[in-house]
Amino acid sequence: MKNNFNKRAHSAISNPHLQDALHIATSRFAELRANSFKTIVSPDALRRRARKIRQDTFDNIDTHLKNLIRKLEENGVHIHFADTADDAKTKILSIAKQNNTKTAVKSKSMASEELHLNEALEDAGIKPVETDLGEWILQLAHETPSHLVAPAIHKTLGQVTELFRKKVEPNIDEDPETLTAIARKKIRTEFLNAELGITGVNFAVSETGTICLVTNEGNARMVTTLPKIHIGIMGIEKIVPTIEDAFTLLSVLPRSATGQKLTSYFTLLTGAKKRMESDGPQEIHLVIIDGGRTQHLGGPFQEAFHCIRCGACQNACPVFQTVGGHVYNSVYGGPIGSILTPMLNGIENSNELPMASSLCGACMDACPVMVDIPRMLLEMRKKRVKRRENSLIENTTFKVAASSMKFPLLWKTGFKVARIFFNIFSRNGELLWQPDFLKRKLQKRNLPLPAKKSFRTILEEKGELITKTPKKKQKEEDIEEKNDSPETPIIPNHGIHNLHGMSSEEESTTEEFPIDNPIEYFMREIESVGGKSYFVNNKEESLKTINEITQRFLESKIAITNSVPEFIKTNLQSKNNEILEPIFQDDNRNSLKEARIGITTCDWAISETGTIVIFSSKKQPRLFSLLPEIHICVVLEKQILNHLNDLPNKIKNILLEKKSIAPSCINLITGPSRSADIALTPIKGVHGPKELHIIILSKNLS
Ligand code: SF4
Repeated sequence: MKNNFNKRAHSAISNPHLQDALHIATSRFAELRANSFKTIVSPDALRRRARKIRQDTFDNIDTHLKNLIRKLEENGVHIHFADTADDAKTKILSIAKQNNTKTAVKSKSMASEELHLNEALEDAGIKPVETDLGEWILQLAHETPSHLVAPAIHKTLGQVTELFRKKVEPNIDEDPETLTAIARKKIRTEFLNAELGITGVNFAVSETGTICLVTNEGNARMVTTLPKIHIGIMGIEKIVPTIEDAFTLLSVLPRSATGQKLTSYFTLLTGAKKRMESDGPQEIHLVIIDGGRTQHLGGPFQEAFHCIRCGACQNACPVFQTVGGHVYNSVYGGPIGSILTPMLNGIENSNELPMASSLCGACMDACPVMVDIPRMLLEMRKKRVKRRENSLIENTTFKVAASSMKFPLLWKTGFKVARIFFNIFSRNGELLWQPDFLKRKLQKRNLPLPAKKSFRTILEEKGELITKTPKKKQKEEDIEEKNDSPETPIIPNHGIHNLHGMSSEEESTTEEFPIDNPIEYFMREIESVGGKSYFVNNKEESLKTINEITQRFLESKIAITNSVPEFIKTNLQSKNNEILEPIFQDDNRNSLKEARIGITTCDWAISETGTIVIFSSKKQPRLFSLLPEIHICVVLEKQILNHLNDLPNKIKNILLEKKSIAPSCINLITGPSRSADIALTPIKGVHGPKELHIIILSKNLS
């Protein structure tokens, strides 16, 4: 195990394709992240609020877990606890077998990677199909993900094209759009025929028993709608106490992950399909894995569970930027992986990972929930030293340095001697000879030679060297130091102040920009996420707009939900289009397979993010906004809310107070389906609609 990281790192550094891919991806993600936080008035106040939510959750994790289970069971969700990965696999396979599963479609789930679930399904004769584009590419390549949110970040366009030519279609162009289109076609067939859908979980809300999924491609919506059975897999770290908390974390997660205000889809699932709904799974199972987690509750590494898996620390880390994720040889790579892997696999089994860091603190700066990664890395290193796992040379060097630092005269003289030695044995700033161990350590770098003058000498010459602290002041400083929180970070927290609490002033700080003209703002946001928007004042204008959008598809099948105004339906019928309305004996998939366009209404819309919110219902089944290539949504002016934060209370109200009519599924849709999994090229319509048109009916009409 020892030094394997170094060997893998050397081979990663010598791989030019990997270096190109990593450089482009990590710098692009970092830039997108930085820009997206500019749309918040006080990003650090928001991050502190998010951190507090995570801290408070873990301070009362028992209560939240109990509440979650009670609520999920009330909602008809089957709960399965698994102590180990093997337990979890046994439970998942047993559900699959009871339902005669031949194919299981999966959306991206790091928890399922932890279990090595695909191998277990294959061994049981069940075909697992990864449906996230990046994961599908890796399944074809028999590789594992190398990044938390961009699993195929290490692959160039040329490599993906070669793979498709070998495994999917021999004569395919090297073009991300063409490659995505073929993946859409192949995976769509699997969605329509699979008996089982497997997903991870982004948040599990304990007050309502709601499973939340944050996605862009629309594959998770397919996976949780088309198969009869849905299995969600999560660790306890996914628990979030309230819907409001989930929305706060949602405000930082996509921004930190991909630089989006919101992902294309935020899906809230509260139980299986209701009696009055025509689509959705008949059963939902939630597998809660321990897998080594609970032993760390209350310990020095508990904070690692605050992580919401955005991948920002990976993009910010100079080590990850240089070597990529596979070098960590674990499901979770990068800075947070260097802590999570030892925690879950046993600290003694992953002792090299905590050393794979320069402790620069960039990870913590980038983290939306301010996980103090450097502190935990140091804790792990301390354990390593206590187990005497450092090399003899390392131990001796540090002992000599520590002893000489206690005696300033010795330290000063030692450096003087070293300076003379280096001057004699170096030419042009490089040592003429190095011992073998140093050569091995410094393969790609030069050992910096001591400066001609020490820092102390320069200060002395300038008369700025303060050699002694007055005794009284020193005493006061000592007392202050003692009174400091034991958690005071050893590494400076680059500009992040008040790490462990919030003033009441900060708690009330709003992160929202004022919105003076909600319609204008809404329309601008829709366009910015790749959708189209239209404001219409009367029936004639609205029909003209719909006709302009649909004229490319004359005489085709158009799916319309029962909530869409009748005059729109009548108009389209008059143009010789075949109108498909919801049916209730079945889940509409067969008729919708042929539909080019789906027309729906929404329940709410949000100006701040250009989002429409659709509650699934008898009138408005889930598949109408998902299967067709084009989605047209009719929004009433009065349904538009200013800010994202205006929504959680409305959702909570319906889930808790109006249970008899509460939907099993709520979707926040922000733009068309999209992915950038092939060489970071943005492509629309990976699994869900390629186009999203939003028609706003003025107050006069509604
Ligand atoms: S530790 Fe923070 S930055 Fe890293 S993945 Fe987790 S939430 Fe994101």
